[in-house]
Amino acid sequence: MTLARVAVLSVGDELVLGQIEDTNASWIARALQAIGRMPGERRTIADDCARLAAALGELSSTHDAVVVTGGLGPTRDDLTRDALRDLIDPGTMLEEDPIGIEHLRSWFERRGRPMPESNLRQAMRPRSARLLPNPNGTAPGLAAQLANGCTIFCLPGPPNEMRPMFDGCVAPELRDASRVVLTTALHTIGLGESAIGEQLGELMARDREPSVGTTASDGVVSIRIRATGTPAEARRQLDATVELCRARVGDIVFARDGETLASVVGEMLQTRGHTLATAESCTGGLLGAMMTEVAGASAWYRGGFIAYENRRKVEDLGVDPGLIAAFGAVSHEAAMAMAHGALRRAGSDLALATTGIAGPGGGSQDKPVGTVYVALAQRGTGIFSRRFHFPGDRATIRSRTARLALACARFTLLGVPTKALLWSEAEAVRVQPCP
Ligand code: ATP
Repeated sequence: MTLARVAVLSVGDELVLGQIEDTNASWIARALQAIGRMPGERRTIADDCARLAAALGELSSTHDAVVVTGGLGPTRDDLTRDALRDLIDPGTMLEEDPIGIEHLRSWFERRGRPMPESNLRQAMRPRSARLLPNPNGTAPGLAAQLANGCTIFCLPGPPNEMRPMFDGCVAPELRDASRVVLTTALHTIGLGESAIGEQLGELMARDREPSVGTTASDGVVSIRIRATGTPAEARRQLDATVELCRARVGDIVFARDGETLASVVGEMLQTRGHTLATAESCTGGLLGAMMTEVAGASAWYRGGFIAYENRRKVEDLGVDPGLIAAFGAVSHEAAMAMAHGALRRAGSDLALATTGIAGPGGGSQDKPVGTVYVALAQRGTGIFSRRFHFPGDRATIRSRTARLALACARFTLLGVPTKALLWSEAEAVRVQPCP
C-alpha cells in the first residue's frame, strides 16, 4: 500500500538565492513522518505570484496535501495568499476576515504599538480559504480544501511561528494514526560510500521496503533506513533491516542515530573503567572538543595537550628533541612519543596523539600535505601508530584526522585489528611496547 503523500513548498527569494537555509522544509519533512505521512516532494519557489500559483496547482494535483511556508507577511513581496487565491478563487478579490482583523488589532494593542496599515493585508484571505490562528506572530496561516480532495496549508516563514502552527493546526488534520514512517541511521567510518554500497548489495534496491540508502559527510558514511506501515509492523521491519545491514557491513558501524564517535568511545571507556588523554598537533584541540561535547565526559576524558610547536612536544609531553631531529615532528616516532608522553603526564590508561601536515604548505615528497600519523598508547600493552594520507584542504584534513583517530581508538577498544581504513597507507602501522 502506498502512503498518502504530502508536498512541501518553501517560498522566498532568499531561499532560492541561498541567502538563508531552508530549515523549515527539513523540519516539516520530519514532522510529517512523525505523524505517519510521507513527504512526496520538496520545492522552493521565488516571490513570484504566477510561478507560485502554478507550483501550487501542480503539487495539489499530485498530492493529498501541500504544506507551504513563507510569503504571508505584510509586504508586496509576500504573495502566497494571492497565489492561493488565483488557484482556488480565480478572478476574485481577497476578502477581509473579521477574526483576522481582531487578531491583528489585539496583537498591536497588547504591545502598545499602533498597527501599520499594511498589516491589514495579513487578515485578508481567498474567499474559500480559512485562517489558521498564529499565537506567535501577526501572520495567520491559511488552509483550503480543493475539489480534488487535496488540502493546502500555508504557514508563516519564521520557524518560531511555523512550528507551533504545524503542530496545532496541520498535524491534527493530517495525522494518520494507523500508519507511521520510521527512520534510522547507522553511521560508519573507515570505508568509502561505494564500498559500503557494494557490501549492502541488493538491500539498496530502489523498490525494497524498508528502503536503504547511503549519505556521506566528513568521512562518515551513514546508512539510512526507512520503514512504513502500521506502528508494530514498521518497527519490526525496521529492526530486521538494521540487523541485515549490520551483518553486511560489520563492526565498521560505530553508532546509530544521534550517537557520535566520541560518545561511543566514551561509553566503551566508561564501561571498562578506563580514561583517555589526548596530545594534538595538527588537530589543535579538535579531538578535545569532540570529547568534551559529550555530557559527562569527565568520567573518562582526562584532558589534552595542544602541542603544536616542537618545544611544546618536548616540554609538555617529554618528547626527545633528538627523536624529532632524527625523524621529524610528523613521523611514527613523534606520534608514539607524544601518545606515551600524554599517557604518563595525564596518568590515563589510554592516550591518543595526532601529528601531520594539514597544508597548504609544508609538504615534501616523502610526506606530502595530508600525511598524518595517529598514535594510540595503552598502559601496560603497547603503542601503535598508523600513517594516513588524507585528500582535501586544511579543514578537511584536520577534521578527518580527528575522526579517524577516534575510529582507531574504537577499533582498539573493541579488540579487533585496526581495519584497512580508508586513507590509511600500506605498511602504515608501527607497534612498540608501552611500559
Ligand atoms: P512574516 O510575517 O514574518 O513576514 P512570512 O510568512 O512572510 O512571515 P517570510 O517573509 O517568507 O515569512 O520569511 C520571514 C523570515 O522567516 C525569513 O526572513 C527567514 O528568517 C524565516 N524563514 C522563511 N522561510 C524559511 C525557511 N524555509 N526556513 C527557515 N527560515 C525561514
